[in-house]
Amino acid sequence: MKVLPLAFESLGVRSQATLIETSDTRILVDPAVSLAPRRYGLPPHKLEVEKLMELSKVIYNAAKDADVIVVTHYHYDHHDPGFVIPKEIYKNKQVFVKDPNSFINVSQSKVRAPKFMRAINGLPSSLQPADGKEFKLGNTKLKFSKPVLHGADEKMGYVIQVSISDGGETVMITSDIEGGPRDMHIKFTQEVKPNTLIIDGPLTYMLGYALTEETLNSALDNMEKMMKEGLDTMIVDHHLVRDQNYRQVIDKLKRQVGEIGGRIMTAAEFLQVEENPLEARRRELFKESNEPAKLPRGVAELLKGGG
Ligand SMILES: [Zn+2]
Ligand SMILES: [Zn+2]
Repeated sequence: MKVLPLAFESLGVRSQATLIETSDTRILVDPAVSLAPRRYGLPPHKLEVEKLMELSKVIYNAAKDADVIVVTHYHYDHHDPGFVIPKEIYKNKQVFVKDPNSFINVSQSKVRAPKFMRAINGLPSSLQPADGKEFKLGNTKLKFSKPVLHGADEKMGYVIQVSISDGGETVMITSDIEGGPRDMHIKFTQEVKPNTLIIDGPLTYMLGYALTEETLNSALDNMEKMMKEGLDTMIVDHHLVRDQNYRQVIDKLKRQVGEIGGRIMTAAEFLQVEENPLEARRRELFKESNEPAKLPRGVAELLKGGG
């Protein structure tokens, strides 16, 4: 099975977009990109917007050959109703989405999910809520978790986790669980026993604000447990890599896990390309060249909507 991270914080934007290719099916998960509207009190830098446009084209091109598209929840870094990536990517695809009518918070159920459904109306060959369901497509098995919390509490709503199996191999994407601080977050991993896991990591850049020390420690403990379930590779990226000090957190996790053989790495490391965490480096980017971005219209609208 091929795992191709397309857009992630370590590649320069807010996203978890990934293409998974099994022996007979191409599955695109969360085809969207976004940026922090403000970080360190600063707007997006010119380089960030250039990267956003570049990676949105990468996703657009990957979508052409995809058979299936998965949307794990209705935040703009996971789905795009047409701000930057043309909604035509959904045309003739089999689409599996987070159930927009249950286990969802108000902003996603009243605003974003309906807006998305209107945008892609009539395009997919099929569209269905996937929470807790299982599908067989040729040799490929797609399995979705029941809805789990977007982090430690209900404020940000719920997400579905996705597992893709072919032959004896399983790849799983946790979506936004903020490192998985609650027991419910590791249940699905224990059930599907993936070889490769893509996880977002804790929001350490908000430590002391949206993240408590206690929640951070339970997330790290749960990530350790997930590693010890027999993972070959854990790709930890997205939320964690918004923090300038993400490397220290990864090293701490590696120490906690010890010598059990699995790899822990960012998406950029996995792809063997240089890490380029532009948001975490925004202050430095402005020091190097003071160029706030001129936002193309779609990007301006996307950022007005928030994460
Ligand atoms: Zn989210
Ligand atoms: Zn996200």
